[in-house]
Amino acid sequence: FLEPETLKPQTSKITFEDVAGQENAKREVSELVDYLRHPEQFRQVGAEVPRGVLLMGPPGTGKTLMAKALAGEAGVPFYTISASEFIEVFVGVGAARVRRLFEAAKKSAPSIIFIDELDSIGRTRGTGLGGGHDEREQTLNQILAELDGFTGREAVIVVAATNRPDVLDPALLRPGRFDRHVTLDLPDRRDRLAILEVHTRKVPLAAGVALDTVAAGTPGFSGADLKNLVNEAAILAARQQRREVTAQDFDEARDRLLMGAVRTLVIQP
Ligand code: ATP
Repeated sequence: FLEPETLKPQTSKITFEDVAGQENAKREVSELVDYLRHPEQFRQVGAEVPRGVLLMGPPGTGKTLMAKALAGEAGVPFYTISASEFIEVFVGVGAARVRRLFEAAKKSAPSIIFIDELDSIGRTRGTGLGGGHDEREQTLNQILAELDGFTGREAVIVVAATNRPDVLDPALLRPGRFDRHVTLDLPDRRDRLAILEVHTRKVPLAAGVALDTVAAGTPGFSGADLKNLVNEAAILAARQQRREVTAQDFDEARDRLLMGAVRTLVIQP
């Protein structure tokens, strides 16, 4: 089979400045930045540093963004895998991939492994028809084995993201595994404004645009929704060959996004 892309580390230019709001999460993650920058300082005094960090929060709240900001702030390579891509046809492939991934990350330590959608692989075991031997469970078991196999000397932090912490196998959350939990919340009005400011950095706004009014009118929007909103508004302006995005573009974009959301709510059972 093909050598997985995921063995090539990425570098990240994203920093905490790109993550608007989420102050609590940033504070917790910045402790890990310190560690990844100077692991030897921690080792010298025998300080135990978390191995596994679970980022929890609704879709679009910036979990992936936060993991990339950790890599960017620390200046370390970043290995990313989406847990859903482990669901392979051939038994054993997922586990082998996990093994190679951890090997590669250890070689280039200090480094980060990011597992997206942990819930797709980390659901409680023993619920499938495979009687505990199916592909998903083998992969999950391999992740647990790798987490347990760290000797404490390797400066590798494993970050996983989920929007369903409730379905995770409790074995994943045990001490020494994903025992550090960081919650990302939907933004309040002030944080929505901050997110809109980040995403309009390069967007020319017409004089009448008040981003705090946009923020006030978008309760329940996630960071991803707000990014989408700015983009939709910019598209509306571009289509009419305007050089600036107006308040009306924002209104129209918001209505479209809300209508789209209503449509999916109606269609989905
Ligand atoms: P999912 O659970 O759907 O995978 P997620 O929580 O991982 O979502 P991201 O993929 O990180 O969310 O967010 C999507 C995009 O939304 C980001 O790339 C970023 O552009 C924007 N975004 C989300 N949160 C923020 C934020 N706090 N500040 C700035 N941009 C944000």
